[in-house]
Amino acid sequence: MIEIENMIDERQQKLRQIADHYQEKQLWKLAEECGELVQALSKYVLTGDKCPAIEEIADVKNVAPQVEYLLEIGDDVELMMEYKLDRTIKEMEKRQKKVLEKLNCGITGMRNWKNKDA
Ligand SMILES: [Mg+2]
Repeated sequence: MIEIENMIDERQQKLRQIADHYQEKQLWKLAEECGELVQALSKYVLTGDKCPAIEEIADVKNVAPQVEYLLEIGDDVELMMEYKLDRTIKEMEKRQKKVLEKLNCGITGMRNWKNKDA
């Protein structure tokens, strides 16, 4: 656990060192890497090759925190991430509930239906 924490600290130092050196160029770098990720994901869908996706996800995950650091928006991004995750979970639950309502049998009914053959 301490090794992972040390690795994260070390990575943050490297990311900040790079961000401090390149400054606002990293905003364009992030845009470039996002474009490369789109291409890599398209390639995966067409060929099944995961390697480009691995490389480009790593690039985006390395450059995005640099932009957060440079713009001093890290805390806001964290809050927005939580908000968006919660919103998506709520939307999923709402959709699931609608499906169950269409089936006219609520969650208890669905559970009984699933266990019928058990
Ligand atoms: Mg790249």
